[in-house]
Amino acid sequence: MPLFEALLGQAKAYLALEQIDLAKQKAAESQDILDKMNVPYYEVELSNVYADIAYAKKEYQLGFDILKQNFEFAQELNLKDKEKAVEKYRIQFDSEIKEKENQTLLTENKLKNLRIEQQNSQQELWWLIAGISSLLLIAVVVMLAVQIRNRNHFKSIALKDYLTDSPNRRSILKQAKLYFSETNQTQQSLTVGIIDIDNFKLLNDKYGHDVGDHVLIAFATASKRTLRKDDKFGRYGGEEWLFVFVDTTPEEIHLIFDRLRDEFNRLIQQKQEVYEPVTFSMGAATFDKSIDISLFSLINRADKNLYTAKRLGKDQISF
Ligand code: GH3
Ligand code: MG
Ligand code: MG
Repeated sequence: MPLFEALLGQAKAYLALEQIDLAKQKAAESQDILDKMNVPYYEVELSNVYADIAYAKKEYQLGFDILKQNFEFAQELNLKDKEKAVEKYRIQFDSEIKEKENQTLLTENKLKNLRIEQQNSQQELWWLIAGISSLLLIAVVVMLAVQIRNRNHFKSIALKDYLTDSPNRRSILKQAKLYFSETNQTQQSLTVGIIDIDNFKLLNDKYGHDVGDHVLIAFATASKRTLRKDDKFGRYGGEEWLFVFVDTTPEEIHLIFDRLRDEFNRLIQQKQEVYEPVTFSMGAATFDKSIDISLFSLINRADKNLYTAKRLGKDQISF
């Protein structure tokens, strides 16, 4: 570009010196350089020099035409410049808007992420609450189950004889009371029997207390095996047992008595601890409306009959 400006300057200088041909020559040389570069503003300047050359050569029409053309070209250039400036501002504006849109999107994304994080921590909190609640529920259920089991266990302990694993005095009396109140309402007969093992003290003395215990266990086992579904028995105390028979005749009770004695001795012989047969006596009484105002008067009568059975030589039933 400096070369072009130098040549154009020379052309203007020659014009001022009125050396028109030399001015024209320098203008042509600068035209050559400009053709290779395409710089519109310099074209305007060069055209002005050509117009001046035309005026200097008194070619006024040509000078006017060049100036006119130059003016239009300059106007066009100006317009393009303005368009370019507008375009530049438009692009700038667009990019600023885009920048703002991007920032808005970024903020929205951040908000979205925050919301997701909040949801996640809320969900974790719910899971935690649900977990703790389940654990508490399980603990309560386990505690309740343990309590129920304990209650049932104590209930069964309260109603069981520890040594023979059979109903104890409280349990058999409860059962007898139930049957007694039913008998009062229905026509069913009710018989209670008290069995006492004969000479048990002697047995204890001869074989020892442990063997005596085994004999008691054998008696409970034999009773369980011998009795019918509705007949009940329980340990009344020591080597005494209370039996309750529903709708059973004295003959049937005799049969049960014999079966019980056989099974009892079979079990004792199996153990091979006691050599002689072990016998027992029973005092029995059947409910009589006119005499028995309570269960205990019935049991009392049975107890008296037991005493009679013992007195008559043991190993028998007395009604
Ligand atoms: P009877 O034929 O007149 O009934 O005589 P008995 O010896 O059986 O009667 P007694 O009442 O004199 O003796 C009962 C014995 O039973 C006394 C007691 O030591 C014993 N006895 C009571 N409970 C148990 C027990 O749980 N285990 C053992 N081994 N013996 C017991
Ligand atoms: Mg006794
Ligand atoms: Mg006895």
